[in-house]
Amino acid sequence: MKRRDILKKAGVGAVGLGAAGLALKPRKASAKKVYNWKMVTTWPPHFPVLGEAADYTAKWIKEMSDGRLNITVYGGGELVPPLQVFDAVSSGTVEMGHGASYYWAGKHPATQFFAAVPFGLNAQGMNAWLVAGGGQELWDELYAKFNLKGWPAGNTGVQMGGWFNKEIKTIADLKGLKMRIPGLGGKVLAKAGGNAVLVAGGEIYTNLDRGVIDATEWVGPYHDSKMGFYKAAKYYYSPGWHEPGTTLECMVNKKKYDALPKDLQAIIDAACAKSNMWSLCEFEAKNNKYLKELVEKHNVQVRQFPDAVLAQLKKYSDELLVELAAKDPLTKKICESYIAFKKQYDEWNAISEERYAKLKHL
Ligand code: CA
Repeated sequence: MKRRDILKKAGVGAVGLGAAGLALKPRKASAKKVYNWKMVTTWPPHFPVLGEAADYTAKWIKEMSDGRLNITVYGGGELVPPLQVFDAVSSGTVEMGHGASYYWAGKHPATQFFAAVPFGLNAQGMNAWLVAGGGQELWDELYAKFNLKGWPAGNTGVQMGGWFNKEIKTIADLKGLKMRIPGLGGKVLAKAGGNAVLVAGGEIYTNLDRGVIDATEWVGPYHDSKMGFYKAAKYYYSPGWHEPGTTLECMVNKKKYDALPKDLQAIIDAACAKSNMWSLCEFEAKNNKYLKELVEKHNVQVRQFPDAVLAQLKKYSDELLVELAAKDPLTKKICESYIAFKKQYDEWNAISEERYAKLKHL
């Protein structure tokens, strides 16, 4: 047999084997199906970090699934208003959403534990509780009531305490103060005699500049710089006692999620985990650069809340958690898990992170 014939036969043989191999092991029909999903968010379109986290999550899911799960992201208001994300995903109008679960306190008070609790867990603690401390299972139990499945998909780290035009020297300085501050933090401020108002992100600057509100909190130096608050307020307070490590969320309509092939479910899980890490890193890597710029270029005065003010706010916060736990059995269960986890997390931190932080002077 001539060499060319041998190669030809071998080639045919190889093709034949390949075809037979495919015939013996057909790919599952579901593995080839392309899913075109929509994700709505509570953020303005492509909003730095927060909106980008949603964009990246969709991008990573598409890449990891080789285009089989194709998600179009819509900023707040593009498809549904920002605060209708929960309902839109729950009802199945859209398949996915990105936001922060404390926006849904009106749906169920326990949603707030999966975003931020005043004087609660920081980013590392939230991740530890959610990933390895039973938090995710409780989140699943809560969201299943609404035909939803949620994941941690971003974290701001410890936020700043907010922008003020007067110094806060005693707790009495908060009395009558009209401040934009969401969630449980707002309820704590109310206990101190303040007036907590909710203003959508895009309107905060104008309201602060015109004196409609006296003060506002937002996130931290990187994001607050972009919002321009330094043009309307003089004092920038630390720390963000009200949001010590706010978790962002990605949510999926549970029926749609359960109907996905297992590999696509795992891809959503992995993309959310990546987004969770990415957002925290963005804030932690950039905050100090922007804080320096605020101080050196824009003459912002950085202040710390006095310990006595924080101690009183902590007392109000503890009262609030007792009131919250009394609302219903599931909120009680979640609150108890959160508090018990934080107690042992704090004990470990006292001899690990806190001791290590004190070595900075060496
Ligand atoms: Ca905030």
